[in-house]
Amino acid sequence: MIEMPEAVTISGQMQETLTGKTMLHFSRGQLVHKFLWLSKTAEEYDAILSGKQITGASSYGRSIYLYMGEEHLLWFGELGGRILYHPQGQPLPVKYHLRWDFTDDSSMTFNLQMWGFVSLLERSELAKHPYAEVGIPPLSDRFTPERFDQLLEEYPEKTKKGIKGFLVTSKHINGIGNSYLQDILFRAKLHPTRKIPTLSSNERFKLHAAIQNTMAEAIKLGGREDERDLFDHPGGYTRLMSNQTVGQPCPDCGTLIQKISYLGGACYLCPTCQV
Ligand SMILES: [Zn+2]
Repeated sequence: MIEMPEAVTISGQMQETLTGKTMLHFSRGQLVHKFLWLSKTAEEYDAILSGKQITGASSYGRSIYLYMGEEHLLWFGELGGRILYHPQGQPLPVKYHLRWDFTDDSSMTFNLQMWGFVSLLERSELAKHPYAEVGIPPLSDRFTPERFDQLLEEYPEKTKKGIKGFLVTSKHINGIGNSYLQDILFRAKLHPTRKIPTLSSNERFKLHAAIQNTMAEAIKLGGREDERDLFDHPGGYTRLMSNQTVGQPCPDCGTLIQKISYLGGACYLCPTCQV
């Protein structure tokens, strides 16, 4: 899934590469996916987008916004898959779900994995949307240790769900998914099942730092290595705790890295370091 470092990387590349291009045609590909949601029919997307110039791109947490003309935007949200740019003359992938053709004969395709939505909205609609820009992105100025502490206290399920629930499934923070979560908790030396009321102020402080450091490092490296950027290049961030390192020695203590299932997904952790 696209998490904040990937959203930052891809939106930055969109801004640089796509700004100024004019939309010729929007279409669906040969693939259909029941967990791909559009906000209108493909014909309506095509009618609204055709002739519009791309005016920029940005990201907010895990969301990517591609601005179309002065009034509209495409919102790529909560999604996994490949958003790829194809310059003129480069063959398109054999299979994809969505396709944007530009007047200079370049294209962009989207191939969904898991689920996600690509909504076409008026910019004023985004501001009113209940799921838009919910939660603080981890590198925002608003994400201070004090605010983090406050958010932990406000989490309604703090006595029921472990810290994983707060970081990944709550609406308090926007940007972390199940992939970076593993490294964040390893760096903070916390077990994913730890309940918030048991966290000392020092542990909270270390967790806040682990979130910011992990996100900043991954952004610097262009996202993680099992994801692709707009040009189909893998990111440079190698995860410490993942399905690739399970069963290998922990980099800090040598205990074998363990996999557990918790809150609807796998967790990879060091049972010695993370308590
Ligand atoms: Zn360890």
